[in-house]
This record gives sequence, structure tokens and C-alpha cells, in this order.
Amino acid sequence: MRIGIVGLGLIGGSVGLDLRQLGHQVLGVSRQMQTCQAAIACGAVDQASRDLSSLAAAELIMICTPLDAILPTVKQLIPHLKPATILTDVGSVKAPVVEAITPLWPNFVGGHPMAGMTEAGIAAAHLGLFAGRPYVLTPGETTPVQSVERVAQIARSLSAQIYQCSPADHDRAVAWVSHLPVIASASLIAACLSEPDPAVLELAQHLASSGFRDTSRVGGGNTYLGRMMAQYNRDELLRSLQFYRSTLDKLITEIEQENWTELEQHLQQTRQARPQFLQAVDD
Ligand code: NAP
Repeated sequence: MRIGIVGLGLIGGSVGLDLRQLGHQVLGVSRQMQTCQAAIACGAVDQASRDLSSLAAAELIMICTPLDAILPTVKQLIPHLKPATILTDVGSVKAPVVEAITPLWPNFVGGHPMAGMTEAGIAAAHLGLFAGRPYVLTPGETTPVQSVERVAQIARSLSAQIYQCSPADHDRAVAWVSHLPVIASASLIAACLSEPDPAVLELAQHLASSGFRDTSRVGGGNTYLGRMMAQYNRDELLRSLQFYRSTLDKLITEIEQENWTELEQHLQQTRQARPQFLQAVDD
């Protein structure tokens, strides 16, 4: 199959590496020429340019740009497309993207491969990034079934686990498990930095170990992606943050009032619940 990828970064480059290894012809487009050259050099694409018209012959095009560039990219692509061309994206927020693109290109299938790293750009792209990871598809009522199946086949060929749901359900679910953790983790790092004694702060930095590494990881990631997910999934993120704040308040009260039994019960509940959130990670 001839597949186009726009946005040759971590996700676009990794998809390209896998698809080429599976025997597809991959045509890339990115904003900077040096990224196009790097993508060719690392084997993520067969050819690459800055010109969206170079994707005219692609049967399926994956938009892998940052969230704010998805809609402008689609608008610029449309004049070059055949009606049968399937468009899909990989953006981490779905409702605003699906609502904006579906009226412009009915053959659009919203998608979100849930694999990532703190590093960004083509240099971070690697083979097998999506293996065993969830890949969510969010078709609307009017999305052609055969196009959904085509995108699902591609996602399955990356060894990803396919999930299908509405864009709204996707955005609410990822607010809990992906976007809330970024803000919680960033506020953890920020709270530590508020230690007024420089000697204690430095000591804490030396003593920080695997517990801090695990809980702070997503707060030290790609800042632009963090801003985009907050901007595009604002309402769901705020909703989850309000629940988080009230949960934190309950825990603070238990500690202030020395309700140690209640605190331990709380920690017992979270200990029991955690594995249910890690099924995709542990599979
Ligand atoms: P990334 O590594 O920063 O890559 C994005 C690439 O898009 C950049 O390398 C940039 O290439 C290119 N680009 C930017 N604006 C463009 C434009 N207007 N036209 C063409 N190319 C453009 O980011 P990423 O992590 O791959 O994320 C890309 C998308 O995947 C986002 O929508 C994000 O929500 C989604 N996503 C990310 C993750 C994650 O954890 N990272 C996981 C799942 C989904 P140049 O160097 O050419 O400017």
C-alpha cells in the first residue's frame, strides 16, 4: 500500500519505520527539510518533502503533526486528494479534531496510538513503538465502515491493540490516565522546587530515587505536547483535576486529623485498584 505520513517526529517516524518494514511504500512530508532528510536516512520513509502535493498518490494518509497543525494540514491537503483517499490522525485529543475534519473530509478516521516517550522528534523514532500498546479509533456515525477497517488493519499490523469508542469517551478516558498524570506529575516537581532552603533542596535532588523518577516522569516530558493536550482537552482535564484536588484534600484531612486507620484503608484501596489500570503495560 502507498501510505503518506505528515509530521515526521516521534510518532510519524516510528509509524514509518514499522510500515516500511511491513513492505508498504511510505511517502513523508514534514515542515523542515532537515527532518525530511533525517527521516530518509533512518529508513522511516521512502521519500520525503515539504510539499503536501507529493502525497497525491497515497491511498491512506496519517497526520502525525502536533494537535494544532492537524486541521490546517488537512485543509491544505484536500485539494491534492482523490475522493477515495483515507485520512487518519494520531492526535492525543479526539473530539475537536473529529468534529472539525469530518465535515471537510468524510473519509476521515480519528485515531490515537497510545505509545509515547519523553523524547520528541525524528531522532527518537524507533521500530516497534506501538507493539502491545492500545490504538484507539474514534469513527463517527457517518465514517465509512471499510475505511475504519482499513485503518484498523494498519494499526493491527503495528501489533497494537485496537479499541473503538466515541471521541467524547476517548477524551474523558485519556484525561484520567494520560492528561491528569502530566499535570499531577508537573505539580509534584514544582512543589518540590518550592523548598525554601537551598541546601535541603539540593539534598533532596541527590536523594531522589526510583519512586521520584516514576512519579515525575511525565511531568518532565514534551512541553509543547503538554500544552496542546491541556488546550484541546481543557474541559475533561479540568474535570479530572477537580476530582484529583478533592481526593488530595481528603488525604490531607486524614493526615491532619491523624486518622491513620482511614489513611491506611485509602492506600489499601489504591493498591488494589492500580493493577487494573496497568493491564496494557503488563500484557
Ligand atoms: P514530535 O516528535 O514533536 O513530532 C511532530 C513532528 O511534526 C515534528 O517533528 C515536526 O517536524 C512536524 N511538524 C510540526 N508542524 C508541522 C506542520 N505544520 N506540517 C508538517 N509537519 C509538522 O511529536 P510527536 O510526539 O510525534 O506527536 C505528534 C502527534 O502525535 C501529536 O498530535 C500528539 O498528540 C500525538 N501523540 C503523541 C504521543 C507522545 O507521547 N509523544 C503519543 C500519542 C500520540 P519538523 O521537524 O519538520 O518541524
